[in-house]
Amino acid sequence: MSTDISKAVMGVSAGIDAIKKLGDLAVKTQNLELREGILNLREQLLEAKDALLDAKEQVSNYKEENATLKARITELEQRLADGQEEIKLTVKKGGYYKEDGDGPYCTGCYDNNQKLIRVNDVGPIWRCPVCKSVVTKT
Ligand SMILES: [Zn+2]
Repeated sequence: MSTDISKAVMGVSAGIDAIKKLGDLAVKTQNLELREGILNLREQLLEAKDALLDAKEQVSNYKEENATLKARITELEQRLADGQEEIKLTVKKGGYYKEDGDGPYCTGCYDNNQKLIRVNDVGPIWRCPVCKSVVTKT
């Protein structure tokens, strides 16, 4: 992408050089109307070159930002994976419990989506508020 922009900048720069020579020629031949037209064209080319250089810098900034974000995503994914490995669950009476005894959590939700969903205690059963599965406390 930025090499395409570099090529465009080089092309426009070459055009600016070429138009300058034409401007000199117009002065030599005293064609003032032609000279004015050439000066206008040169002005437009200079503006186009500035715009391209701005775009090139913007692309460069986006690339840098993109690399930073990619690194951040990798870091967060790693942290997430580490966090999931640390959770040790045991099954008691049809529900998952953490090592510190916290629970119960829905086994279906965790096994399917690695989500710890606290089940509702409804008398003799537990009901998951997300997947609505019902487990009889046994
Ligand atoms: Zn569930």
